[in-house]
Amino acid sequence: MTDLSHLRDDFPILHREVNGWPLVYLDSAATTQKPVQVLDAVDAFYRTKNANVHRGAHTLSAEATAAYEGARAKVAAFVNAGSPNEIVFSRGATTALNHIAYGWGLNHLSAGDRVVLTVMEHHANVVPWQLLARYTGIELVYLTLDDDYEVDLTGLDDLLDERVKVVAISAMSNVTGTLGPVRPLVEAARSVGALVVVDAAQLVPHSPTDVQDLDADFLVFSGHKMLAPTGIGALWGKSERLEEMEPTEGGGEMIADVGLYESRWAPVPQKFEAGTPPVAQAVGLGAAVDYLTAIGMETVRAHEHAITGYTLKRLAEVPDLKVYGPSDPTRRGGAVSFTLADIHAHDIATILDQRGIEVRAGHHCAKPLMRYLAVPATARASFYLYNTTDDVDRLVDGLFEARSVFGFDA
Ligand code: PLP
Repeated sequence: MTDLSHLRDDFPILHREVNGWPLVYLDSAATTQKPVQVLDAVDAFYRTKNANVHRGAHTLSAEATAAYEGARAKVAAFVNAGSPNEIVFSRGATTALNHIAYGWGLNHLSAGDRVVLTVMEHHANVVPWQLLARYTGIELVYLTLDDDYEVDLTGLDDLLDERVKVVAISAMSNVTGTLGPVRPLVEAARSVGALVVVDAAQLVPHSPTDVQDLDADFLVFSGHKMLAPTGIGALWGKSERLEEMEPTEGGGEMIADVGLYESRWAPVPQKFEAGTPPVAQAVGLGAAVDYLTAIGMETVRAHEHAITGYTLKRLAEVPDLKVYGPSDPTRRGGAVSFTLADIHAHDIATILDQRGIEVRAGHHCAKPLMRYLAVPATARASFYLYNTTDDVDRLVDGLFEARSVFGFDA
């Protein structure tokens, strides 16, 4: 297995204890821990450069602007965007998806138009489209999953016709770890002139991502899921798509001119960044991108495949445990959801927490998927570059403990 255990020294929080046990953090699909390199970059920004950005005539403002725009350039390079201007900073993936649904959708979609989604979408890629449906009368249609939890494309040809205007898909499910079939869907969407929106909140942190190669129209992700602070994320869009998108928030920073009754917008991407932006958070994201780039995203992905494979193998040793997700670790991401006999997911998470092991339990902001899988909740272990096989072994020991607490044979 790709050994990245030396990186653990970069993450101060991994050295704390929880309930008297060394912390095992298995909730990175929710948010990741932060290395000192990111913490120091944010701290140094506030200590030495803090000022508001753009338009400032003074030195600190120029330095803060350079740091903010420098972060944009780093993020653009990280996903191979055509230009930094194709990166709009947002609060996270959710805000970015709302920008697309309203900023693009309200102006280009109308009653009877269709948006194709999958049943595995996070609420962030469902609810904005539902809101848009209320305003415009568009229809939402869903692709389902096959027996191995992969997106079922068999009915796609029947589904795709000239009514379909948008295909919006998660590149990786935060519940099952399923990789969304982005390439085939881009190809299929093009055949009917539809746009493709990719929710890459779980892809960009874990895998090399090349937006030009994927050739979708929009792709979104969150900084806090890739070692950066909360409050910063990105919306990548093809230049022509961003040009035809309207701003969804108005205020300072996003204007070229303001009159009493009319305003003109600033060029992309400022047009979508109303108000004082999250400057320090962007600097933190730039530092996170530097950190991940130094390790290499191929290495990050290889580590994730290896630890996911090891986890699936070890979880198979636990009687009555059912994993919800693709069986081939190289065809999936490192979010592993499971149920254990009839023990409630929250009880599993509580027992694990008593042993210092942090997993998520619940619907994971994917209620349509839970209904589709016919489970009220799952427990979920999710991995990042700082996790080791020792973490997985501790998880499995904890699950045997949960079995015994609930009176099952060891
Ligand atoms: N999409 C997916 C697949 C996610 O896993 C998440 C967060 O869990 C989101 C979107 C929303 O991200 P955020 O809460 O950072 O906006």
